Amino acid sequence: MTHPLPMLEPTLVLKGKDYREVLKRELDAGKIPISLGKNCPVKCEFCYEMDHSYRETLDPPKTTQDDWEFILNYVNNIPTDPLQFWCLGGNEYMEWTDLFLHPKAMEWVEDFLKYTDKNIQFFTVGFVHVPKIHQLAERYPGRINFELSVITMGQYRQRLMPHAPSIKHLQKVLDGPAVSSANFYAFDEHTMSKDAEAIARINQKCVLWMGCLTPVRGLKEDTMALMKQGRKHLAVEAERVYDAGYPNLTTIHTEAYVTAFLNRKRIISQFDALELGKRDTIVMAGSVYKILSTYRKNRARYLYVPNTMLGGDSDCTVLLTFDDIRLRLTDEKTVHIPKCIMESGRGTNMDIAGVTLEEFVTKTRVGVKVLHKINTRFANARLYRNGSLQNFVEDYVRNPQSAVYEALPLTA
Ligand code: SF4
Repeated sequence: MTHPLPMLEPTLVLKGKDYREVLKRELDAGKIPISLGKNCPVKCEFCYEMDHSYRETLDPPKTTQDDWEFILNYVNNIPTDPLQFWCLGGNEYMEWTDLFLHPKAMEWVEDFLKYTDKNIQFFTVGFVHVPKIHQLAERYPGRINFELSVITMGQYRQRLMPHAPSIKHLQKVLDGPAVSSANFYAFDEHTMSKDAEAIARINQKCVLWMGCLTPVRGLKEDTMALMKQGRKHLAVEAERVYDAGYPNLTTIHTEAYVTAFLNRKRIISQFDALELGKRDTIVMAGSVYKILSTYRKNRARYLYVPNTMLGGDSDCTVLLTFDDIRLRLTDEKTVHIPKCIMESGRGTNMDIAGVTLEEFVTKTRVGVKVLHKINTRFANARLYRNGSLQNFVEDYVRNPQSAVYEALPLTA
């Protein structure tokens, strides 16, 4: 390229609209868009909402009873999918917050269960009312998926989440039928493994959802350093949990490089099925780049694209943006782009920032061939299929090939 390509602009969809438009868009995506009417006051140091400037948002005012009735009516007009779990909280066109800080949240969750035939899921650091939440779980079995964000109960809790509920309260939330899965992470020696022990002692039925937190743009340096430190301890901590043999289901998620390695055979077979030639340029994030440039060396031109928009250590093809791709273009006439990049919640053929495929083609003058089979469905299936702790320990931690893979450079 002789001239730098112009930055790609998102299509603004909320301009001139009022907050009910936000509610409708979130509802259409299966979200229950209650709002606190302000930023999340919990202010966790690791919160991914610290910087959400890459996407257009319009935060609704604090949800009123009138808004709630509008939401409930809207939900009731949508046909029920028995496999769907409606998520409490919007996060595409509004900012994510801990909604159990809304004084009516418990009452509205009960309304949702009583006045609709749909399922609900929610994520919270624990601001639920005990024993109410356990009573609801008993009264509506199978309709609640409660993901408790424990994060950590150890020495780093105060530093990372000083305004979160106390450990004593968390223990009460865990002690009963309500929690479906508890997520917590490695930060150091004896962090994740100690939490697993403590949680499994109270609740043998909830899923232990473990891993590391990924640094992203906008977080403080020392928080990012702590997350990176956790990554170094993940393998040993995971082995401790594995060897302890708790009765709970145990999963490891959130690390893209691990997911890519555990799914390497499927990634390779999917690539082979694309039947691309040596001169074809295919866009991908770092870990997939490592897999293909190792196991299918020189079979195509692999264009490694860092997740510049999200920053930090993000390494995910689904979350790449068209502008990230623009920054990596040199002399390409045509590029192959996975469909999953343009299947974000913002709309048809849009990336997570709201930039369209058309905008990309017009501004860069580079032709695009969409890889339709590399879609979000494929990516999600891969993410969950090999997510068990057993898989991670046996096929990653105890597999000598994984060390070779980790040491591979990302050729820029
Ligand atoms: S409670 Fe959730 S939304 Fe609020 S700051 Fe913490 S992580 Fe972010």
